[in-house]
Amino acid sequence: MKVSLKFRFYPDELQKEMLARTFGCVRLVYNEMLQLRTDSFKAGVSVNYNASSRALTALKKTPEKAFLNEVSCVPLQQSLRHLQTAFTNFFAKRAAYPAFKRKHGGQAAEFTAGGFRWKPEDKSLTIAKLGRLDVRWSREFTSHPTTVTITKDPSGRYFVTLCLDEVVQALPKTGDEVGIDLGVIHLATLSTGERIANPRHTNRRAQKLARLQRVLARRKDGSGRWQRQRQKVARCHARIADARKDHLDKVTTDLVRRFDVIALKDLHVRSMVRDRRFARTVSDAGLGTFRTMVEYKARWYGKEVRVADRFFPSSKRCSACGHVHPTLRVDTRKFACEKCGVVHDREVNAAKNICEFTAVGQTVKARGEKVRPSQASARGGTSRRNVNPPSASAEMECQVHDG
Ligand SMILES: [Zn+2]
Repeated sequence: MKVSLKFRFYPDELQKEMLARTFGCVRLVYNEMLQLRTDSFKAGVSVNYNASSRALTALKKTPEKAFLNEVSCVPLQQSLRHLQTAFTNFFAKRAAYPAFKRKHGGQAAEFTAGGFRWKPEDKSLTIAKLGRLDVRWSREFTSHPTTVTITKDPSGRYFVTLCLDEVVQALPKTGDEVGIDLGVIHLATLSTGERIANPRHTNRRAQKLARLQRVLARRKDGSGRWQRQRQKVARCHARIADARKDHLDKVTTDLVRRFDVIALKDLHVRSMVRDRRFARTVSDAGLGTFRTMVEYKARWYGKEVRVADRFFPSSKRCSACGHVHPTLRVDTRKFACEKCGVVHDREVNAAKNICEFTAVGQTVKARGEKVRPSQASARGGTSRRNVNPPSASAEMECQVHDG
């Protein structure tokens, strides 16, 4: 199974300097070629990968851009491939038009087979023109990396990501299924009645972040003090993101261990984030990340994820008798079913419905209320069940930090 593992590493001063130049050259090549392709596109001439590769060779021969020869050629070539992918996605209408790479975002340089050497016996990773990296190997792996990507995040930390093809041991089957209702008040409520708290990381650190940002606003743009303050803001952001990811990692690993089938509801996280009332709490709770993590871990450990249609009235349906209460308000936490009298907790009831619904694959519609068709049924499919097939290449990313 294809996985990518991410490790932190600590470059020495020379390596830092070389990396800064490499990142700069990668960005320059990407931006120059993007400009070239944009100009050609407007003039009605198409520039493909091979043509941009020839243009790079020509660029390296010019005296003004001779410094491109001082860094490894591998990441420069990879940068052209990334640009090619960006254009392919754009033409396939999967993505927006490629954007220029900025100096102050995260930086990356990708090395393929010729650009690095890996010796498993002493765990040494050597990169062209950089030498051996001081990596904290916090996770075991057995396969040989196919590509190595070096990144620097906005808070100034360096990471190396290895693409590997690992043999994964499936987790033992437990025979249990679970439905999960994701929310803002509680991160998750399980059909078993359990609730998983939402630590609300941002709220705890929001004040600190706000203070740092206020100071940043007072600094003169581009000055030395502005630069240092920007780093502080970035570090604060990074700590919040780490804590959030760490929490989600623990929760999702536990779920995949305990249950063979995990049923979720397809949330439209993007539209929730766009809604200003929800934006902070939703992106804070990381509901989208929750689903992504559960999905790749399930593939990784041989478990199954089922997704209920997002228009399925999971909250309004009584999980005991199936009666639907179309007038149930969003703020009702507890209610008694008007037909069978069972008293439900809103989230636990929803979780039970999600579990049951995806298990039998039946269509449940709210009576007296219009339920919009799912994309599947709009295309003519009859099943509203959306069982994700195990994909051949699961992307697993493990970010490791040391104190
Ligand atoms: Zn009922």
